[in-house]
Amino acid sequence: MILFRLLLLTCLLTLSACSNDDKALQAKFDAFGTEIDVSLYGVDEATADKTVSLLEQSFSQVNNTWHAWHPSILTSINEAINEGQTIKVAPDVEVLINQAKSLAIASNHLFNPAAGKLFELWGFHQDDWFVSHPPPSETAINEWLSNIPTMADIHINNGELSSDNPKVKLGFGGFAKGYAVDAAIAILQSLGISNAIVNIGGDLRAIGSHGQRPWIIGIRHPRKDGMMASIALKGDESVFTSGDYERFFEYEGTRYPHIIDPRTGLPARDATSVTVLHTNASEADAAATALLVAGKDWPQVAAAMGIDRVMLARPDGQIELSPKMVERVRLINNATPPIIREIGKSTP
Ligand code: ADP
Ligand code: MG
Repeated sequence: MILFRLLLLTCLLTLSACSNDDKALQAKFDAFGTEIDVSLYGVDEATADKTVSLLEQSFSQVNNTWHAWHPSILTSINEAINEGQTIKVAPDVEVLINQAKSLAIASNHLFNPAAGKLFELWGFHQDDWFVSHPPPSETAINEWLSNIPTMADIHINNGELSSDNPKVKLGFGGFAKGYAVDAAIAILQSLGISNAIVNIGGDLRAIGSHGQRPWIIGIRHPRKDGMMASIALKGDESVFTSGDYERFFEYEGTRYPHIIDPRTGLPARDATSVTVLHTNASEADAAATALLVAGKDWPQVAAAMGIDRVMLARPDGQIELSPKMVERVRLINNATPPIIREIGKSTP
């Protein structure tokens, strides 16, 4: 039974003032090791209850299919690749893998879901990833770098998946949440629900509005408590952030965050947070991961991935925005003016 709370949603999700007519139904449940927060506007409680059960099932199905280290369809695919065998995959599995492959190729493999062995080397593909442990040895990283596996090694023909490189190990942590959010929104739309937010640990896709007003969302500051910015959403939009501040482990005083640069085999360190505003959640999720890896070269990678609304926080605290993001984002308590970076251009 899902417990609904009728609440003044603006008090939690938005930064604007609350008023008594601003009511939305909100439900929370856990999936992907994080909290899913569904807000529905303009539906009755019985409908909301049924709808949220369906969403809960959908999230747990995506999670169970794509789990990178608990037995799943993905782990059986990885076993077949490791043994140099082909494996039959269902049409929906093929869809996700092909979408991830296109995004990886567009990002020039900075978004590299074929790098599962590298994520494993760093200890991120296990339940206790946050416990202090030494980073991998230089030898182990160099060995991985000697023959970098990519999504271009993966082929699916007539429902049969094969890999040119047995070092490929698929891991969709940088993308599966976005995929699951898109699946959830598709369910809402098929049920005729047109005003909602599906929020997975701060990443979200919104449709419609919150009554007379837009949905307004906050983006966490990567280094301070509280928000760095807010955005008023327009209709169907997704906001995904990748950062170095949520998933990391520490060893002998050094912090090792979980997004790895496949060019160096080391954690990406040229940005502390990247937020992408885009229609589709899976694309926004993959792009946020790729742009965090890209660091100062993010405008070229964004152009290649068809992304035009980006906010990046640099390690020195400076915020960089694409021109179209300037129009949409409201920075909070920001001392230094943001730097505007044209999409596709290497210099500010
Ligand atoms: P979060 O889950 O914190 O929102 P991401 O969406 O960026 O962050 O996903 C990070 C996860 O993606 C890592 O835990 C790892 O499984 C995987 N990953 C790490 N580096 C990359 C990369 N360069 N490309 C694709 N996936 C990555
Ligand atoms: Mg991501």
